[in-house]
Amino acid sequence: MNLPENFSFSQQNLQDYSDCRYRFLLKYVHGIEWPAVESEPVLLQEARMELGQQFHRLVQQYFSGVDQSLLGASIQSPELGAWWQEFTTLDLTTFPGEKYAEKTISIPFNGYRLTAKYDLLVIEPGRKFTIYDWKTSTYLPKATNLLGRLQSIVYPFVLRKSITDHQEAKDMMEEIEMIYWFPAHPARPIRFQYSNDRFLQDGDLLTGLVNEIVENDEGWFNRTSDQSRCRYCNYRSHCGRGINAGVIEPGSEEFLDESAFDLDFNAL
Ligand code: SF4
Repeated sequence: MNLPENFSFSQQNLQDYSDCRYRFLLKYVHGIEWPAVESEPVLLQEARMELGQQFHRLVQQYFSGVDQSLLGASIQSPELGAWWQEFTTLDLTTFPGEKYAEKTISIPFNGYRLTAKYDLLVIEPGRKFTIYDWKTSTYLPKATNLLGRLQSIVYPFVLRKSITDHQEAKDMMEEIEMIYWFPAHPARPIRFQYSNDRFLQDGDLLTGLVNEIVENDEGWFNRTSDQSRCRYCNYRSHCGRGINAGVIEPGSEEFLDESAFDLDFNAL
């Protein structure tokens, strides 16, 4: 498969590939945009993603040094205000380490690049790296589902690889922890420690995925047989998988797809 020039792998495009090879083909190889489905569940999802984007912007401005009270005064949504209150109560600026909001790291990988964009990276030199990711869903996803997603694989892998590629004493590894923090459930973060075993496993898994994508021709990129993955996909009508979006079930994991948050905050 010929990928576009300067194509970079990311948790989002690898997750799309894992969910549906055909979606990857349409979106990233052919660059086909298809009109979003204008129905109630999708509009609701878009409204929630907009709220999530506003939260991400606030946090980025907070770590850029914008006055906390000015940021708080700019909030109009009561729900966003409650999230902001919980976030500022965390008082992350007092935690040890250098803090980098919306930090992008890109590494060479199998002839391409693999890129991760971190909501917040906290670096305690010689000791620890902590990856924070804000999840603004109203429900708390199952930890096993979240930890199985490509984000939980790509983010710590890219960080570990970038450290080992630049570190002279490779046996002096800093600890890496990833924390998903939910402003709607501030006391229930989902966190995991990264290990060298996991780093090796993830490297094999990512290599396998990238090889599958680059070594196969278009015939490989078929439509998923799991039609539940089509419920909110923009290509539903293109694929003959229905016109209207499905109804969001209570406790649904659908909002885990935060592709709308994949913004270039440096350009804002
Ligand atoms: S509608 Fe379904 S089959 Fe078509 S691209 Fe989307 S997920 Fe794949």
